[in-house]
Amino acid sequence: MNDICFLTLSELMAAMDKGDVTSAEAVEAYLGRISKVDPELNSYVTVDADGARKAAIEADQRRANGEKAPLLGAPLAIKDLMATSGLRTACGSKILENFVPPYDSFAVAKLKEAGAVILGKTNMDEFAMGSSNETSYFGPVKNPWNMEKIPGGSSGGSAAAVAADLCAAALGSDTGGSIRQPASLCGIVGLKPTYGRVSRFGLVAFASSLDQIGPMTKDIRDAALLTGIISGHDPMDSTCAEEPVGDYLSGLDKGVEGMTVGVPDEYFIEGMDPEVESKVRAAIEILGSKGAIIKRISLPHTKYAVPTYYVIAPAEASSNLARYDGVRYGYRDMDADGLFPMYLSTRNKGFGSEVKRRIMLGTYALSAGYYDAYYLKAQKARTLIKRDFQKAFENVSVIVAPTAPAPAFGLGEKINDPLKMYLSDIFTISANLAGIPGVSVPCGLTKKGEPIGLQILGSYFQEASTLRAARTLEKEIGFSDEKPRIGIQTG
Ligand code: GLN
Repeated sequence: MNDICFLTLSELMAAMDKGDVTSAEAVEAYLGRISKVDPELNSYVTVDADGARKAAIEADQRRANGEKAPLLGAPLAIKDLMATSGLRTACGSKILENFVPPYDSFAVAKLKEAGAVILGKTNMDEFAMGSSNETSYFGPVKNPWNMEKIPGGSSGGSAAAVAADLCAAALGSDTGGSIRQPASLCGIVGLKPTYGRVSRFGLVAFASSLDQIGPMTKDIRDAALLTGIISGHDPMDSTCAEEPVGDYLSGLDKGVEGMTVGVPDEYFIEGMDPEVESKVRAAIEILGSKGAIIKRISLPHTKYAVPTYYVIAPAEASSNLARYDGVRYGYRDMDADGLFPMYLSTRNKGFGSEVKRRIMLGTYALSAGYYDAYYLKAQKARTLIKRDFQKAFENVSVIVAPTAPAPAFGLGEKINDPLKMYLSDIFTISANLAGIPGVSVPCGLTKKGEPIGLQILGSYFQEASTLRAARTLEKEIGFSDEKPRIGIQTG
């Protein structure tokens, strides 16, 4: 049964098309593996066994009736901040612990339309604030490659579930790196699409000008497949682009011959892990050997990315999270005496300490007297960062850089030092500030056997070329055959 779980999403779909496996069998295989492996890994917060079984039987019937759909019967997992109709969406927080949305988010609706079966909701940092999955109200997720390490965050549950073969693929969200960084640390593929490519309708808002939903998958083909399905215009999200959805699949294997690849000086810095640097540099050489033109470039405002993000993201969060007042959503402190004390104690008891820190930072940065010094200045720096990329993309088609400065760190290692934690996002944040797409693809293991990823960034709506360059590396490096040993040794 494990064999079914180890297939990529595309392989599983092909096996179902051939009649070798049914959706019901695949769902049973995943549920069995989840019950064996996940009590320790903690990648799911909700497993919808009944819902998944029912949806699988329906998908098998539709298939038997000759119906065709790209994900018919595919068992997938969803980060627990995308609304799923009738299925709890807790966002890693006590304040939404019992929140059951009455509707599906756009991305989930698109998956269901394509025939997907939702296995459950994956663990995450509270309100997607974190880089290690340790701020979750539901406890930390572990890294399937080494159970003493963090899986990355905030989409740590989705990354661990894909890496440990507890779903065929998953969705995550990326505000400052939350798809790409955990993908990199767990040895899987993660794509953050262009801002506006995928509707944010039904996504619990963290920082609305940065949030994007994207796929987390076992290989590039699956990422291309899912991106095509969840993309598209949605009138329910005013920032969702009208740009037609590209064909991400058909050009995947065309290679990088003649493609100009930029390598930014600012992404190879002192203090980064030497094994990360050497693996990323080796991958760049591979691209060169496959006919790409490698060009050194500069993105001079990169050094402002972390401080800029940690003003803008908390500012937007402080505004977005004002809606959790104990009246309309989720948790309410019933012991509080009077309306105003109820607001205060609901928020005090409902939010964890990292979320409170962000609300305070953001409220401060937006307050009269500080707005110009912090928020406005950060917006100006954001424009400079964006212009760096626009200029670079006049001369290169894609940019290659490490996804994270080091492999996975230890559980508990950085949780009490917010600054150290924030620095884990040093290479991923700029893409969100600029709004460009980026895909993280595994590029090897450290000597200790920990995954290393690199990211390929593209210009606006150029997901196809980033995926193509990433696919070239994936083929050459052959990483997709590597597996964490979790649950395998016990069969
Ligand atoms: N680690 C970053 C943060 O804590 C990014 C999170 C994300 O992309 N959701 O804000």
